[in-house]
Amino acid sequence: MSLDIKFDWRVDGEAQAEPFLDSYELEQMFDSAKQSIGAGLRRKFADVVCAEHAKAPTFKISGVYDNANEEMDIQYHVDTCCQRFLMRVMRILNQRA
Ligand SMILES: [Zn+2]
Repeated sequence: MSLDIKFDWRVDGEAQAEPFLDSYELEQMFDSAKQSIGAGLRRKFADVVCAEHAKAPTFKISGVYDNANEEMDIQYHVDTCCQRFLMRVMRILNQRA
């Protein structure tokens, strides 16, 4: 079973005169974040489906790189068939790998 994970990356704000990361390095960072987040989720949720509806959760990961602060903010959006399964998914998500 392959997990449904969507990624949405963007860069906010004007680049500084001498940015810490150039656009190529940013791409690389997004790529490696994507791979490690994807691998982590696939590992944690390999066999996790809703007990009631037999559906897997879907994930959308948003990453925003803020040029002004040179910081990366990553947010997880989780979609499930029902509230009860969402609670279970959030519990698994918050467990250390
Ligand atoms: Zn359900």
